Amino acid sequence: MKNKAVFIDRDGVINEIIYHKEMGILDSPFNAGQIKLLPDVGKAISELKKMGYKTIIVSNQPGIAKNRFSEEEFSKMKEKVRDELKKQGAVVDDEYYCIHHPYGKIEEYTKKCNCRKPEPGMILKAAEKHNIDLSNSWMIGDGITDIQAGKKAGCKTIMIGRMKCDLCQKMAEENAEPDHITPTLYEASKIIQSR
Ligand SMILES: [Zn+2]
Repeated sequence: MKNKAVFIDRDGVINEIIYHKEMGILDSPFNAGQIKLLPDVGKAISELKKMGYKTIIVSNQPGIAKNRFSEEEFSKMKEKVRDELKKQGAVVDDEYYCIHHPYGKIEEYTKKCNCRKPEPGMILKAAEKHNIDLSNSWMIGDGITDIQAGKKAGCKTIMIGRMKCDLCQKMAEENAEPDHITPTLYEASKIIQSR
């Protein structure tokens, strides 16, 4: 029998988005010290595992390509997320990252790839490795590209955000409407449980 999985975007779903004062922007963390988990994410991941889902991080991380952090710092950030989840008693089954960007600053990572969401490359790769039935699986993320990648892969989708969201019009236009919208990963795990 095939496995089922919940694919989880990282920044904005597992850990907080950071306000980078010096640049005046909200973005992913640029170093391990900026990794702070959102409330109850460990609990959510543990609940999903109890329901029999594999939990797999799928995250666009163009920071190396954009010269915002080094490969070494990226390793430290991944480690920090794992450590913080472990403190809450949670372990994810696997992690996939797209470190490319079509308009990067570092040549090695500057390319158009099929792993960067909205493309479903990371999900498809994980599905093959872990023998996953995608129609019985979920993608959870806080961006339109997460919903698009999930839908392209044939998963059900949950958007982390607010019900009256600014993105709703855009989602309708892009045919990227999620099956559910809810504010936290823990709430999302409850929705999956109820289905
Ligand atoms: Zn990629």
